[in-house]
Amino acid sequence: MTELTSRRPDAATAIFNLSDYRVLETEILGFGQRRIHVESTIESGCPDCGVIGTRRHIRHRQRVRDIPLAGPVEVIWSKRRYFCDESECPRGTFFEATVEVPRLARSTRRLRDMLVSAVIDSGRAATETAAAHGVSRWLVQRALNVAATRRPDVDKLRPRMLGIDEQRVRSVRFFKDPATKAWKRFEPWMTTIVDLDTGQVLVVGSPDRSPVSV
Ligand SMILES: [Zn+2]
Repeated sequence: MTELTSRRPDAATAIFNLSDYRVLETEILGFGQRRIHVESTIESGCPDCGVIGTRRHIRHRQRVRDIPLAGPVEVIWSKRRYFCDESECPRGTFFEATVEVPRLARSTRRLRDMLVSAVIDSGRAATETAAAHGVSRWLVQRALNVAATRRPDVDKLRPRMLGIDEQRVRSVRFFKDPATKAWKRFEPWMTTIVDLDTGQVLVVGSPDRSPVSV
């Protein structure tokens, strides 16, 4: 089996500083754009059975969006696909995954964290943040959605100021009351309470307007 870890990273890997990756080579493209080829340095398990992959099937070059590093960079991950050697497992092969770039992700965690911080710290709209960082608005919105679901233990927080936002999450709906047979209007509202200093979502109200404890 190939030795994946390296105790003393080379200079490019140390400067690029993406956890669990090493730099294979770099290219200078037109207009000063840099392309950085990387591979992971950790073992990966089968997503179905967890058995660590040791027999390599193929490599696939995947473009990964990442933070700028003294200017924009294009990152290409030379991603390994392994055979699953567990005879009972229905999955024949699987692609490796890392904490920075989990399965199906196309951007690094550090980029998504940076986008969320940009929106929260600057109070800018998702669209504006996306334009400033050269990424799609959808990537910013997805990162914000994930951040909003990572809610802390609110009993341990001491927010200084609270912000309350109420918005309609779907169009108005009507349903028939089974008891009275009368049609009733249903307003699918969602209430969100945030810590105004940090932007952290503290409480999300359910669409039927009943509070959800977090
Ligand atoms: Zn498996």
